[in-house]
Amino acid sequence: MKEIYDYVVLGGGIVGVSTALSLIDKHPDKKILLIDKESSFAKHQTGHNSGVIHSGVYYQPGSLKAQFCREGLKETINFCSINNIPYEQCGKLLVATNQVELKRMHELHERSKSNEISVEVLDQKQLNEIEPNIMGISALFVKSTGIVDYKLITKKMSEEFESKGGEFLLNSEVVSLEEDKEKIKIITSSESLNTKYLICCAGLMADRVARLLNIKINFQIIPFRGEYFRLPIKHNSLIKHLVYPIPDPDLPFLGVHLTKMIDGTITVGPNAVLGFKREGYNKLNFSLRDTIEFLSFKGFHRVIKKNLKSGIYEMKNSIFKQGYLKEVQKYSPNIKINDLEPYPAGIRAQAVLEDGTLVHDFLFAESKRSIHVCNAPSPAATSAIPIGKYITKKATEAYNNLT
Ligand SMILES: Cc1cc2nc3c(=O)[nH]c(=O)nc-3n(C[C@H](O)[C@H](O)[C@H](O)COP(=O)(O)OP(=O)(O)OC[C@H]3O[C@@H](n4cnc5c(N)ncnc54)[C@H](O)[C@@H]3O)c2cc1C
Repeated sequence: MKEIYDYVVLGGGIVGVSTALSLIDKHPDKKILLIDKESSFAKHQTGHNSGVIHSGVYYQPGSLKAQFCREGLKETINFCSINNIPYEQCGKLLVATNQVELKRMHELHERSKSNEISVEVLDQKQLNEIEPNIMGISALFVKSTGIVDYKLITKKMSEEFESKGGEFLLNSEVVSLEEDKEKIKIITSSESLNTKYLICCAGLMADRVARLLNIKINFQIIPFRGEYFRLPIKHNSLIKHLVYPIPDPDLPFLGVHLTKMIDGTITVGPNAVLGFKREGYNKLNFSLRDTIEFLSFKGFHRVIKKNLKSGIYEMKNSIFKQGYLKEVQKYSPNIKINDLEPYPAGIRAQAVLEDGTLVHDFLFAESKRSIHVCNAPSPAATSAIPIGKYITKKATEAYNNLT
């Protein structure tokens, strides 16, 4: 029999790489391999996000999201400090522009208290003093929110994993998995190998990878594009904090926001429109397989039915820049149409259940010799270190129980 790994981690986004690092820290004597189909790490969601270190105001108290985000903020900042990775805790403002949003803002304030996050309520004058270019009737000020480049964090984690004896296998798509009493056989586009235990962090491909092992799952990944613009450099000092709208609680995404990036520029976005290719970043990218798959999924039809109005609205704003601009002008009226310069899109892997529920929390599935991260939406980049530790604990227990 071929040499057998103790643990193989599939997926070189921040969740997979953080898990691989946590595993080798816990088991320095074990043979651990990290596989990705791309030529380097962080090529998908991790490399196409807003770069925000979230504080966790939004999340359902008691959920894994709320817990991991709170811990993740501290751990991310600690990791950056130790490894000289630039980050800034610039703080974030959630701006209410009308009475409906004001009511939602107060509900969010209550939620942030339940999540034990320190948040200040600003009136119009106080908001105007700290952000003269932002209009609103009130705002929540979350001082702990920060910004970072998650590609740099992932790169540093992968280097640390390798320096501790971990192995990589890049340019290798996992195309087949067979689990038996002694191992899982992994066939990739470049070779085949065996492992005693497998951890899958496949992001936009999470459902397909789980199905390779015939794990019974009741969800499908639906890709939602997040399209951004960038403001011209002359606007780099337009804001001092991140500026977010008050989210609509019925929608799973945060709304178009102004994000200071760690390189000093400001992005506008992202929106949330249905994607017609899971890993297709250009607007016109289309995959027949991906499209047929979601069109033939009951859950997708139910999501469309529930969110038809907002879906059409988002689609319209994606096609017509003017509509997108209106979203931002609600709280930042000085931004004009010519200020919206092109910027690469990201694609969210959103797990949707058969009954049409959009899964908000992190979701896992297991077989005897494997664990799968099925849903790792935002703030999974912020939360990657605690998620990695959580998976390591579960994987270690499962490994130790193997006969
Ligand atoms: C537009 C957008 C904005 C966001 N903003 C933020 C933010 O500001 N803050 C925050 O905390 N979070 C944010 N997020 C969420 C965050 O980026 C993701 O939750 C996180 O990056 C998920 O990491 P991951 O490792 O699970 O997935 P990914 O980064 O997508 O990695 C999955 C990896 O699996 C590999 N893979 C898949 N299938 C196979 C296979 N068969 N064989 C081999 N390899 C395979 C892929 O190549 C990929 O490298 C945002 C996400 C998006 C899309």
